[in-house]
Amino acid sequence: MIEFSQIPEWVMLGLPVVIVLVWMKTVRSKRHSASESHFSSEYFKGLNYLLNDEQGKALDIFVKLVEADWETIDTHFALGKIFRKNGEIDKAIKIHQGLMSRPSLPEKYRSSVLLELGYDYLGAGWFDRAEGLFKEVLNHDPKSETALQNLIIIYQQEKDWYKAIAAAECLYQENPNKIGLMISQYYCELADIARAKGDLSQLERDAKKALYYDSTSVRASILLADMAMSAGEFKKAKHLLEQIEQQDTEFIPVVMNKIVECHHRLNEAESLLEYLDALEKRQDSLPLLESHAKVLERYKGRDAAIDYVMVKLKKNPTLQGMGQLLSYSDTDNTTEATMIMHGLLTAIDAIQQDQATYQCKQCGFKSNTLYWLCPSCQHWGSVKPYLCEPSC
Ligand SMILES: [Zn+2]
Repeated sequence: MIEFSQIPEWVMLGLPVVIVLVWMKTVRSKRHSASESHFSSEYFKGLNYLLNDEQGKALDIFVKLVEADWETIDTHFALGKIFRKNGEIDKAIKIHQGLMSRPSLPEKYRSSVLLELGYDYLGAGWFDRAEGLFKEVLNHDPKSETALQNLIIIYQQEKDWYKAIAAAECLYQENPNKIGLMISQYYCELADIARAKGDLSQLERDAKKALYYDSTSVRASILLADMAMSAGEFKKAKHLLEQIEQQDTEFIPVVMNKIVECHHRLNEAESLLEYLDALEKRQDSLPLLESHAKVLERYKGRDAAIDYVMVKLKKNPTLQGMGQLLSYSDTDNTTEATMIMHGLLTAIDAIQQDQATYQCKQCGFKSNTLYWLCPSCQHWGSVKPYLCEPSC
């Protein structure tokens, strides 16, 4: 007799599902005819094998039963899912391959079995085999959303952006916002590749396509702006960078140095100061103090920068503001007060360096690197600049 504690964990987790399915089958069998009660006893026999960790014998029974009544196929799918979730992919594959090899498999279940087997191969990391199966599903049902979504996952993993675009375009009409955002990112990936190869015309074509599918693509605007800056087209670059405020305001601090650089190159000191004043009024929650103070110091002198920071600090005391103010202390002066200020500045720098620069809006993943595809939850465009508490 098997001890309770000896029952494998996967059986305990999956057992309720199997019992419900068996119960449903039993009830249905009773409704149909007494002769079908044979099914129930066979099912319990199979269950008994499962409980005794004799999956091979259990599977033999379930395969015989499904051939006699394909309506019981859900039991196989449930078992396959339990094995897959438990990491026993080989057993899940065995179940689904067993079903596929049955000449009597009804056509209406063929796609479902192919999908399940595809999930098994994905779980095992066999992308080529999974791709073949999902494509086969599309042969039977060209609009299968599940098959297309899984093909997209595979092409993303393989960084085959052209195939990812082709698959995503099949889903675009159904959900243009969500799918458009993905296609846009794929074109940005292609634009990045073109940039690495020095193919500027391809880079421009891909970045513009990215903007076509997602007009709020900050990534595409940055790609085009970088290209314009490299070509000395600072007016064009400035326009592209400033429009990011409409695309996604939170990214303005990320491109602020580039905006300032464009104005410098165009000798537009006054318009830069006006732009920064107006931007600060429009977006008072953005961390723009350091950039603004640097521009003031460059064009209006150190005292103007200090005055500006003092006003900002009185209105809203922040670590960033204090750090900026302390940075104006005389570095050549070695008096005790100056040394204390240097110590404070170092401490503030250390606190700020400990804070993440970016955070995923979907899963909360924090990083100091800007990822366009979140490494944690695999969402595109969900990692944004991390705006910490107002006091930091
Ligand atoms: Zn995430």
